[in-house]
Amino acid sequence: MKKITIAIDGFSSTGKSTVAKQLAKALGYVYVDTGAMYRAVALYAMQNQLISNDHFDVEKLVSVLNKIKISFKYNDILGFAEVYLNGKNVEKEVRTLEVSQRVSQVAEISAVRKMLVQQQKQMGQEKGVVMDGRDIGTVVFPDAELKLFMTASTETRAERRYKELIEKNENVSYEDVLHNVESRDLIDSTREDSPLVKADDAIEIDNSNLSLDAQFEKLLVLAQNKISE
Ligand code: C5P
Repeated sequence: MKKITIAIDGFSSTGKSTVAKQLAKALGYVYVDTGAMYRAVALYAMQNQLISNDHFDVEKLVSVLNKIKISFKYNDILGFAEVYLNGKNVEKEVRTLEVSQRVSQVAEISAVRKMLVQQQKQMGQEKGVVMDGRDIGTVVFPDAELKLFMTASTETRAERRYKELIEKNENVSYEDVLHNVESRDLIDSTREDSPLVKADDAIEIDNSNLSLDAQFEKLLVLAQNKISE
């Protein structure tokens, strides 16, 4: 059967990864979470004291990019691939609010984007991939057969992310999470290199009032139609 590329972009916490995982499972495709790759670079910068509240040594980070090896390894129990930084599983570490508070600054750097986009293109070169991020339909796979652009109200998104973090026993306040979602959206959509914008041919899905099941059914039909075209 014909294999396609599915590009999912959108603001923070719009449920991109949830539906991307569902689609990949249903279609037997590979799921690639590109946000995890930017998060892993941010974690590396934090671990090496290159970034903190009042300091960010961009030059140094760019000079050590060749030391950052990011990979994914499928976890049978979880049913998706976890992210590894220099051979270490950092799936949990990259999801903390601390990393969320640094990642968009790191993702603004062109050298970081260039390195990761190159890897992403390679991961999807054989198609049969569902990739989510901010620039997938515009930069990584401008020729993707199916492009989705996910949106939801800011409050809905902050509530979702807050619940997720609380379930993981993270000690965070709703206000901090809301602030993080808003500030990441602003940086992501106004940066110079590959800002978050809806591709002209992307289908916009506002899931503020859509159940997970309803959303999945709808998007699966869109994907199946593209596959049989
Ligand atoms: O998708 P997630 O929220 O985990 O992404 C974390 C951050 O990584 C985003 O807020 C954005 O700054 C950056 N990112 C990006 N381009 C991508 C994926 C993520 O700039 N393709």
